Amino acid sequence: MTGSPRTLAIRAGRLFDGERAVGPGMVLVQGGLITGIDTSGAPPPADSLIHDFGDGVTVMPGLIDCHVHLSLDASPQAMANVAIEDDDALLRRMELASTRALHAGITTVRDLGDRRFLSLRLRDHLAQNSIAAPRIVAAGPPLTTRGGHLAVMGGEAEGADELKAAVHMRAMRGCEVVKVMASGGATTSGSRPHDAQYGQKDLHLIVDQASEHGLSTAAHVHALTSIVDALEAGFDSLEHVTFFTAEGVASDQRLIEQISQSGTFVSLTIGSVPNSGKPPPAIAQRLEQIRANAARLCSAGAKIVLGTDAGLSPGKPHNVLPYALEALVDLGMPPDRALHAVTAVAADACGLHGLKGRLAPGAEADLIAISGDPLKEISAVHNVVAVYRDGHLVVDRRLKTETSMTA
Ligand SMILES: [Zn+2]
Repeated sequence: MTGSPRTLAIRAGRLFDGERAVGPGMVLVQGGLITGIDTSGAPPPADSLIHDFGDGVTVMPGLIDCHVHLSLDASPQAMANVAIEDDDALLRRMELASTRALHAGITTVRDLGDRRFLSLRLRDHLAQNSIAAPRIVAAGPPLTTRGGHLAVMGGEAEGADELKAAVHMRAMRGCEVVKVMASGGATTSGSRPHDAQYGQKDLHLIVDQASEHGLSTAAHVHALTSIVDALEAGFDSLEHVTFFTAEGVASDQRLIEQISQSGTFVSLTIGSVPNSGKPPPAIAQRLEQIRANAARLCSAGAKIVLGTDAGLSPGKPHNVLPYALEALVDLGMPPDRALHAVTAVAADACGLHGLKGRLAPGAEADLIAISGDPLKEISAVHNVVAVYRDGHLVVDRRLKTETSMTA
């Protein structure tokens, strides 16, 4: 082997670099990495391979869903199924789920709760067999109390010794994030979202242990008290953030401002496939107030990302993220900020700063091409015509065929 790999020049009428619109222009890719962005109108380097998407297309970093469950099958019985299915059957389904996400332009997913570390097995399986799939950032089974929310996934741990051991095991296995069910949840019978599962002392211990092992932390927090405790404990991301109380939903502008000033990532679980059934009653009754708080978090300048909970129910298949983006814009966020949230900000939330979520030299070339202009009309994110993973074209719905130009 001699020489360096050939440069791929991806051209489009618009580029979104993870922060703002640039272009028309060209993304240069070599060896799976972005080597340059050219908006000068100069011709591509000699001997490049050219993928020209034309003027009507936007090229941008691949989308990032910060909260999915590849092991949940998005059926009405998702929770029951994950409890009974054997590992091999579950793995096959997880592979399909990851492919489904990829085809919607989702090139990174953060799996915040699998059963028995199957997302790590999936990650190895995909890599060994060169199967195109999103980059998977994995938590393994979420830490939960005995019989607590999502205990079916096998992550029960209580008390300092068990919690320490649980974090240690996740680090040894190769997880990148520790997920904690700080409060109860709406989809586990007997669990109440407005109740805390862990107190502040336990949450502090989990954050300390995780940071000792170089792992990031994500806290599932519906309960108002759990939001306060997880924020105080220093979790990297807060999931759902619905402000549940026994009576309904709290409206606490001071806490919203505290969250926003803390720099903690706020992972909003909004959006679902239209006409896909109702959310659980506890959520449905509170939906308008949950949305109002989410809008307040957005306008207060919180570091918003999207975590769809894909897999949880029929409204949340593994390709649901584009709908969540529309929901975010519905809350009042301008399209460019919403696209920033699911690219550059989301990459940071996943511990992939500089690697994902931006069109920038040195970043991995996970890119999507969208027909239309999602910066003007966010619904264009449903029209993904091509997906690149590490510089490889893995989904191609173009009408034109690629051209090759020699010098
Ligand atoms: Zn979840």
